[in-house]
Amino acid sequence: MSVLEVRDLVVEYSTVYGVLRAINHLSFEVGEAESVGVVGESGSGKSTLGLSVVRLLPPNARYAGGSIILDGQEVTRMSNSEARRIRGTTAFMIFQDPLNSLNPVKKVSTQLLEAVEMRCKKLGETYDVEKATREVVEKIRDVRIPDPELIMERYPHQLSGGQIQRVIIAMALLMRPKLLIADEPTSALDVTIQAQVLKLMNDLKKEYGMSIMLITHDISVAYNISDRIMVMYAGELVELGSADGVIRSPMHPYAKALIASIPRGVMRDAPLEPIRGSPPNMIHPPSGCRFHPRCPFVMDVCRREEPREVHQDARVVRCYLYG
Ligand code: ATP
Ligand code: SF4
Repeated sequence: MSVLEVRDLVVEYSTVYGVLRAINHLSFEVGEAESVGVVGESGSGKSTLGLSVVRLLPPNARYAGGSIILDGQEVTRMSNSEARRIRGTTAFMIFQDPLNSLNPVKKVSTQLLEAVEMRCKKLGETYDVEKATREVVEKIRDVRIPDPELIMERYPHQLSGGQIQRVIIAMALLMRPKLLIADEPTSALDVTIQAQVLKLMNDLKKEYGMSIMLITHDISVAYNISDRIMVMYAGELVELGSADGVIRSPMHPYAKALIASIPRGVMRDAPLEPIRGSPPNMIHPPSGCRFHPRCPFVMDVCRREEPREVHQDARVVRCYLYG
């Protein structure tokens, strides 16, 4: 069973320079208790994808085709009030800058209790403030914050970046969403805290069996958490497969380049090489395969026609070198 099914999705932004297609015919799914890492360079459409799933696209964006089925409901045609109802409780999104996800004028305790109240309303459970407080304390402990009572009395600006991200994860656990979408959840944190938060997400994934869509530019971060990895380039899926398979034997030339460009290498014996060229202009993307101007294996057909997805066992790859 899939918690999230994205089918042939197209998302466009209108800009003063013309229409920018940020997601181009994208299809993939996230299964129950599965974690999928979405990776790609800046501008590949990762954040647009996350925002599309929770219907938080900015006003100049539109769903231009396809569908997003989240826990059995079509997101692209939902009314705003329906979308508000699924946000948090069905799909919970953690942003790169966690401070924006908390209300600056409310104590941590108030915000976490509100999360429990929202969940109770959605599930038809009775909300009892004493029981909810016990649950909040327990969840703050679960996210490895040692003094829950102390943290609960604080306002967001009195917490460190790592503590805020943990409070947000506690909020997600209290809401019990079907899908947790984390958009670069550790990028704003320093390296040691990054490792702690990633370990925490990994532990919680095992403990709570939550489905996770992790958005990151860092394929080694995705490898740490994900069962499968989807590599995106210029708004398109270029490779999808098991995290081990994609990291150890990438098929698409862009996925290979992405792995070879990791500073400390997931594969430590691999040579370090920057990806040549730069990401394409998304208003006038290259014809044929969007990666062709940067691809060392480019052929004539790559410039003319868009490659189709080739399915090989559990791997999907979009490249003329295969199939
Ligand atoms: P990053 O890691 O830098 O956030 P990303 O992979 O998440 O990159 P998106 O932020 O989804 O990529 O952007 C995809 C494309 O859509 C880019 O070309 C970007 O410039 C464009 N884009 C994003 N938001 C808007 C917007 N509000 N208006 C117009 N274009 C936008
Ligand atoms: Fe390279 Fe052609 Fe494959 Fe695109 S389709 S990645 S240009 S070989």
